[in-house]
Amino acid sequence: MAQQKLFLLPGDGIGTEIMAEVEKLIAHLNASGQSNFTTDTGLVGGSAYDAHGVAISEEDMQKALDADAVIFGAVGGPKWDDVPYEVRPEAGLLRLRKDLGLFANLRPAICYPALADGSSLKREIVEGLDILIVRELTGGVYFGEPKEIHDLGDGQKRAIDTQVYETYEIERIARVAFDLAKTRDNRVHSSEKRNVMKSGVLWHEVVSAIHQNEHSDVQLDHILADNCAMQLVRNPKQFDVIVTDNLFGDILSDAAAMLTGSLGMLPSASLGAPDAETGKRKALYEPVHGSAPDIAGQGMANPIAMIASFAMALRYSFEMIELADKVEGAIADVLYEGLRTGDIMQDGCKKVTTAEMGDAIIAKL
Ligand code: NAD
Repeated sequence: MAQQKLFLLPGDGIGTEIMAEVEKLIAHLNASGQSNFTTDTGLVGGSAYDAHGVAISEEDMQKALDADAVIFGAVGGPKWDDVPYEVRPEAGLLRLRKDLGLFANLRPAICYPALADGSSLKREIVEGLDILIVRELTGGVYFGEPKEIHDLGDGQKRAIDTQVYETYEIERIARVAFDLAKTRDNRVHSSEKRNVMKSGVLWHEVVSAIHQNEHSDVQLDHILADNCAMQLVRNPKQFDVIVTDNLFGDILSDAAAMLTGSLGMLPSASLGAPDAETGKRKALYEPVHGSAPDIAGQGMANPIAMIASFAMALRYSFEMIELADKVEGAIADVLYEGLRTGDIMQDGCKKVTTAEMGDAIIAKL
């Protein structure tokens, strides 16, 4: 079996605790001959600042660039609230996204049947939910220039953000969405606001062209972003893949995420362009949640978002689809058997620690 290089960046707070469970899982998969991963571990965020005075060192940045996939925990915490802005913990993650060219953010929202009662929506609306939001991550209004606040001199100010997209940025994210749809239910909803935004007009035009010219075998629907938000809470199971820009993706993916219950359950992947020679994409996998300083160091963190992020790496970076299914199946099984960390605790279930949850998932495998 070919050797695959993983670069682990646990980060701060609960990042180290949940990454420890992924390390156990990797050791199990290697020992049982199901994988051949090598791992190296680096520092990012506050822990990198403490060691090197930066949010990620050049050496670790190079290791991230050389790896087949980066597995990232979480960064930040009150200890680093007052460090200079350019070396704040989040700067490490932003640098990784930028230097690895990670333009596609994948956020699945899966509702495990055992947790359907933990959702704020009714069980029948969310049970069995399995949708994937594909968010453009490096363009749009968060990065567009000009971005500034002017003092108008009469006690008034004017703030400007610029929503800007070019054809190639929309083409490449549309291709990711259509490719992924083919591995799922073969349906894509493209979401924008072409009724009031020029960038929405271009988005609609470019996604339609990619569909027509390259992916006409996938079902494509266009939906205005405000309607998409409404439909996500009215009838989320109508969706398979939703592709959208950076701003709408930020909001829609958080809304979709909470359909499934706790932050501790939510994985994500960020992908770059395929390499011209190898066809492999740079990729970073991370839970959606942060470093949870309020529970760090107490063995209370839910490792499922981190383990499910690793399962996404198996699926999207290594094409180990069966193994990814097995890991996700093991997560569903332990939940079905009533094991719960504190954040997803329900009446009649057994409360377990971070390590006990990790061990139970490995035992199921
Ligand atoms: P958070 O996601 O860290 O925590 C929010 C709440 O959810 C907390 O009550 C926490 O205990 C709980 N929670 C989160 N993950 C959990 C898990 N796996 N198991 C059990 N409970 C969990 O968000 P926050 O409190 O707003 O931020 C804390 C720090 O994390 C800040 O420094 C913030 O900047 C940083 N942050 C980092 C990332 C990242 O690394 N990608 C993302 C978000 C926030």
